[in-house]
Amino acid sequence: CGIVGILGKHEVSPAILSALKRLEYRGYDSAGIATVNAGVLDRRRAVGKLINLSDTLVHDPLPGRVGIGHTRWATHGGPTVANAHPHRAGKVAVVHNGIIENFRTLREELTAEGAEFQSQTDTETIVQLTSRLLDDGRTPLQAARETLARLDGAFALAFVFDGEDDLMICARRGSPLCIGHGTEEMFLGSDAIALADMTDRITYLEEGDLAVLTRAGAQIFDADGNQTNRPVTRINLDT
Ligand code: GLU
Repeated sequence: CGIVGILGKHEVSPAILSALKRLEYRGYDSAGIATVNAGVLDRRRAVGKLINLSDTLVHDPLPGRVGIGHTRWATHGGPTVANAHPHRAGKVAVVHNGIIENFRTLREELTAEGAEFQSQTDTETIVQLTSRLLDDGRTPLQAARETLARLDGAFALAFVFDGEDDLMICARRGSPLCIGHGTEEMFLGSDAIALADMTDRITYLEEGDLAVLTRAGAQIFDADGNQTNRPVTRINLDT
């Protein structure tokens, strides 16, 4: 029910955790974080409150200066660790809010092609599809675009990729998502409140937008795939 992403200068897991805390008001049943550390994609997930995820991270730290985090409000598949986000297949991980309406069709198609699903969620169809496209030789941006073109439903999502320490791809279709601008750092959140500790410079993505984030900035594409500019606004949040 909440999405956070950071391309940072330091280890991002602690900051992702505190940004997720700011999204607790939305409600959730499980949580997780994925990072890319020296090119290696890895994740930690836990059922219940964020304290369970932070305990997991104490025992099993997750280094890395790029990462995505999620608080889940289960719609498809019960609140278990296997169903918690980030979901991963091959070289890609995703966090997702909302519902993929055509997930059954996609799941049948991908299963017939050999994909081995590890969860009951609608979300996992996203990464299974993206992973197949990456295996077929697409770049992360091409794979993300082609995946999004196949999805029906209302959602917001963010991807990170194994081997990519300076890349995050996100998209908004029906659920809000905003980008935060730092100094050689970039942030992503379901809302500006999530990012209030980190930056007051916010770009609200518009319906159908896809954004490619690196530490140098954001490249935003509109629903037709054309590169576009969205304003950076200064927000004043009483934190
Ligand atoms: N439909 C997804 C799931 O059940 C995402 C739920 C959410 O928005 O947190 O895993």
